[in-house]
Amino acid sequence: MDSKKPVRRALRGLKTIFYEMFYSKRLRLCNTGPIYTFTFDDVPVSAIINGARILDEHDAKGTFYLSSGMTGVNEAAPSEARTRTENLLRGLVKNGHQIGCHTYSHRHLPDITADEILADCRKNKLLLSNLLDGTPIGHFAYPYGDVSLTAKKTLFNEYITLRGTRPGINHDKVDVKLLRAVDLYSSSFDKTKLAGWIKENARLNGWLIFYTHGVEDEHDKWGTTPADLRWVIQECKNAEGSILNVADAYEDICSQKDKGL
Ligand SMILES: [Zn+2]
Repeated sequence: MDSKKPVRRALRGLKTIFYEMFYSKRLRLCNTGPIYTFTFDDVPVSAIINGARILDEHDAKGTFYLSSGMTGVNEAAPSEARTRTENLLRGLVKNGHQIGCHTYSHRHLPDITADEILADCRKNKLLLSNLLDGTPIGHFAYPYGDVSLTAKKTLFNEYITLRGTRPGINHDKVDVKLLRAVDLYSSSFDKTKLAGWIKENARLNGWLIFYTHGVEDEHDKWGTTPADLRWVIQECKNAEGSILNVADAYEDICSQKDKGL
């Protein structure tokens, strides 16, 4: 066991608390009932196929934060595979799921300049928006969940929301430029803990966001099995909350004033 791991995790948590203090946009949640959101990062084809299908089975919609450079829709991808992935992504949007941005080349943002961050993100946004007939790409997830003040400041006006990986429930006054999220990795899947998050979100009338990567039985450390994903979705359904993608959830949490109305 890596004895440095808990220390690293604690340091990361402390850093995120610090980042929540700057370049934040705090909204008081105005949702009428608890909200649950399922998000997929990078995104492997197994998430596009299995993740979306399982959500559809439950009449739920998710958000897929794509890094085009690693998803097979970039210019270097073989044309047949590229066309297949492009069609899958169009199908996702047509079915009510959402495509978000995760940078083009999955850069570790704390290591690069503001100009590099902007260029990489805008390349991804433009490619995806063109692919989806002009659909705006208005929401973002930080690669590796790693934030820096430069990154947060730079992306503040580029996206409506920015999602991190600090575990927690978004409730009361929420920084929508660093949303909290809970992982759904089958390698560390804990039903008691996850049921606790879901129950607590219902109690707080909050917005609980989950994240994972691939969805398949042969998952890696950062993926989820179809059975585990189904179990969590069903638990959220049992909690009688709404399962919404990030864009729809954002609409739901905003007051008329936040929307500029
Ligand atoms: Zn990622």
